[in-house]
Amino acid sequence: MSKKRIAILGSTGSIGTQALDVIEANPEIFSVEVLTAQNNADLLIEQAVKFLPKVVVIGNELFYDKVSAALSSFSIKVYGGNSALVSVVESDSIDIVLTAMVGYAGLLPTIHAIKAGKDIALANKETLVVAGELITNLAKEYNVSIYPVDSEHSAIFQCLAGEENNPIEKIILTASGGPFRGKDSAFLASVTKLQALKHPNWSMGAKITIDSATLMNKGLEVIEAKWLFDLSANQIDVIVHPQSIIHSMVQFEDGSIKAQMGLPDMKLPIQYALHYPYRLKSSFPRFDFTAYPSLTFEKPDLETFRNLAIAYQALEKKGNAACIVNAANEIAVEAFLQDRIGFLEISDVIIESIAKIDYVENPTYLDYVDTNEATRRFALEMIQVKV
Ligand code: NAD
Ligand code: MG
Repeated sequence: MSKKRIAILGSTGSIGTQALDVIEANPEIFSVEVLTAQNNADLLIEQAVKFLPKVVVIGNELFYDKVSAALSSFSIKVYGGNSALVSVVESDSIDIVLTAMVGYAGLLPTIHAIKAGKDIALANKETLVVAGELITNLAKEYNVSIYPVDSEHSAIFQCLAGEENNPIEKIILTASGGPFRGKDSAFLASVTKLQALKHPNWSMGAKITIDSATLMNKGLEVIEAKWLFDLSANQIDVIVHPQSIIHSMVQFEDGSIKAQMGLPDMKLPIQYALHYPYRLKSSFPRFDFTAYPSLTFEKPDLETFRNLAIAYQALEKKGNAACIVNAANEIAVEAFLQDRIGFLEISDVIIESIAKIDYVENPTYLDYVDTNEATRRFALEMIQVKV
């Protein structure tokens, strides 16, 4: 069998580096064709020297000379600036594109990859949140598969294997509850970014870690699930499961529930997405039931953690509503990470953005671009007035 040739967009991040671990452990199965990063030139250079891709893209052009000089003795093409992403994903020598960059920036390269017929291993959930309808329609049109990398969606995808003729009654997304599970608004009003960045079960990039603390991550995942599995909002339940052992569940029409379980380790969903439908032998630590005598479940607190409720409302509202939520959230999280707004104000920024930005019922790609820009501008202004 020939090797599966992979492009990793965002190779220096949490998902990107773990994907390279998977590839390194399975050199007879995978090869690296493209690596890209935004700012971390040193790690990108180190990865390129080790994995010898054909192409490397450094998003921040300030680092182009450095990357280019460091790789000059290798036969690796180096590009600077994220506009290069849209063309590098189209290369004939790529079989699958792993979208492991963070945020709205994932949308355009994903569209180009799909149009070039590339399968997608989708970590960048924001792409489906912003433009789920457009992306899933394009995937159908170009006969491309989208394999989920997000652990909950991978769990559901794994539970659906062999169930092609059996409709889903509902899915149950599990949520760890994040570092502030059980806390009230009075407590949350004064939490710092250092507290918010301490996730109990997963080590991830800063943006998704803050999203986990506000429960926006679960909200984005509800929307992501809607598009991946063609569900309506009332078919998607969220349950808080602090141990993060059950990664999510599917309930079928006979009432039977299938769950996918294991120790939290993103390498498993990454390799399942990259090598589907095959499972790769791994040496990951195995789960021991006796080490977890109780797996517990509780209702999410939608009043304190408003972002999850906001995401459900955006899903019901359709159109560009989730695009507005995503853009406002990206700006608000960035501002929280810069100590410019408080934790509870993240939801305030999103709620005011929804009220302010024009609703578009049937958005085109350009409508998403406009909505994203207008929302970011509004959210930034709002934050500037506050501080
Ligand atoms: P991260 O911050 O650790 O890494 C982000 C990567 O994207 C880096 O390589 C960075 O150089 C690159 N990047 C940043 N801004 C960019 C831009 N504007 N254009 C192009 N590239 C850019 O993030 P992460 O935790 O690895 O998450 C990546 C994506 O995967 C996110 O969408 C996240 O929601 C999703 N995800 C992550 C995890 C996890 O365990 N980390 C789990 C599920 C889903
Ligand atoms: Mg997840």
